[in-house]
Amino acid sequence: MSFNLATMLRESAQAHPDKPCLRAGERTVGYAELDRTSGRVAANLLAAGLVRGDRVAVQLPNVPEFLFAYFGILKAGLVMVPLNPLLKAAETAHQLLDSQARLLITFDACAAEARKAVVGLDDLELCLLGGPDREGGEWAFTDLCAPVADPDDVRDIAATDADDTAVIIYTSGTTGRPKGAELTHFQLFMNCTTAGAAFGVREDDVSLAVLPFFHVYGLSSLVNVTVRYGGALSLVPRFEIGPVVDAMADHGVSVFVGVPTMFHALQQADTAGRDLSRFRVACSGGAAMPAALMTAFEQRFGVAVLEGYGLSETASTATMNPSAEDRRPLSIGKPIWGVEARIVDGDGLELPPGAEHIGEILLRGHNVMKGYHRNPEATAEALRGGWLHTGDLAYRDADGFLFLVDRVKDLVIRGGYNVYPREVEEVLYTHPAVAEAAVVGRPDERLGEEVVAVVALRPGAGATAEELVGYCRERLAGYKYPREVRFLPELPKNATGKLLKRELRVAARG
Ligand code: AMP
Repeated sequence: MSFNLATMLRESAQAHPDKPCLRAGERTVGYAELDRTSGRVAANLLAAGLVRGDRVAVQLPNVPEFLFAYFGILKAGLVMVPLNPLLKAAETAHQLLDSQARLLITFDACAAEARKAVVGLDDLELCLLGGPDREGGEWAFTDLCAPVADPDDVRDIAATDADDTAVIIYTSGTTGRPKGAELTHFQLFMNCTTAGAAFGVREDDVSLAVLPFFHVYGLSSLVNVTVRYGGALSLVPRFEIGPVVDAMADHGVSVFVGVPTMFHALQQADTAGRDLSRFRVACSGGAAMPAALMTAFEQRFGVAVLEGYGLSETASTATMNPSAEDRRPLSIGKPIWGVEARIVDGDGLELPPGAEHIGEILLRGHNVMKGYHRNPEATAEALRGGWLHTGDLAYRDADGFLFLVDRVKDLVIRGGYNVYPREVEEVLYTHPAVAEAAVVGRPDERLGEEVVAVVALRPGAGATAEELVGYCRERLAGYKYPREVRFLPELPKNATGKLLKRELRVAARG
């Protein structure tokens, strides 16, 4: 067993070269083609002078080229840094700088922001997919996929250790600005192996690939799981219900892995006259699945919804409801194979089962990250005592099922997208009228949570809610900016001056 993600693709390609691996509209990419094209990407990256361990950022939607780039980077022994295409230049620049990426692969829709982001990053090159208008020195994605002189180069997979970092994913962990969680080949390989088994994915499955590949959930639970088990992905670049239903019917989708907002939209979708008869597995994660939605979805489609839980720091799935027969609604299930969970109180003491014993979930296992890239303090804090401190609060029932009840960390999950309050607050603080700002989540039926800013203005200064919303919207990715601003004369704080987020959440409800 090599525990290498590139070798994992090679093995699937050798087992069934002609089988489709990706379907995107009318386009089909077979396993042999993915193996060959990603081999060319690897050979071209190495020919350009990149060396083992170098970082390559990929900022693409769910298109086949994402997989050519991803597996090419891995075959070359390089590290992939996935970036959200919705990021604005300053957000992208932070992740490029922190990861010290040498190449950014992006596409025409992101070109303008990407060019702004790379200003001053002299060691970084840009590669663009699509669009004729490249600027001097920029690569075209087609150059990266161009045939190489020596076919052996295409067959080679660079030597790596199982503990080499394969992917760096940006997440803020429990506090602060986004940090790069380093995941190794071993961790990602083990996670897709065990999570795929927990989902029950098979070789004849087609998985709806609408969760973004730049997020750990899409990358590990869709891309890696599918390639590991030799299935196929049905690619949908963004969540729009029409194309989703088309893809499900046209590609014979049998597996749907998504966030509750997607389940909500699908539950309400018009599917009259469409053949969804192959649909057989549904897994929800990323945010809490409401019990009423679970029931309505199951009644409509006749497919049991299994809820799971995980983090960027755990290479995606950490817990899962075992099966339709052995599950609890509202529960995130039990740790998957090879993962252990503890629930501890504020002093780190393990709590007994029972809804009254709520504490932080700690995780340990094959899937827990190596650490945060170039951030030993944050790594030591998150992994203290050999356990990942998740910042999530839960209890365990007598049968070992875990129930998530709250978060101690500052994270808002809007429609499955993570919004780190600190990033939004930093933007608000640059507005001249703002004295104090805090960002919290307000429960929302459709999105799970909505982003709300609570602001205290400077004495004598004036700014309307619309103005502040517009100010943030210009500077932040579309899913992050607050949709509402509430004003208070002063923000609630405790005796040590720490903001009282619970009280702020109450204020956010209005
Ligand atoms: P990320 O690092 O982006 O994957 O976000 C991880 C966070 O998503 C976790 O720490 C939880 O707060 C949240 N999360 C993941 N799965 C669930 C779930 N099933 N229910 C509620 N929250 C979840």
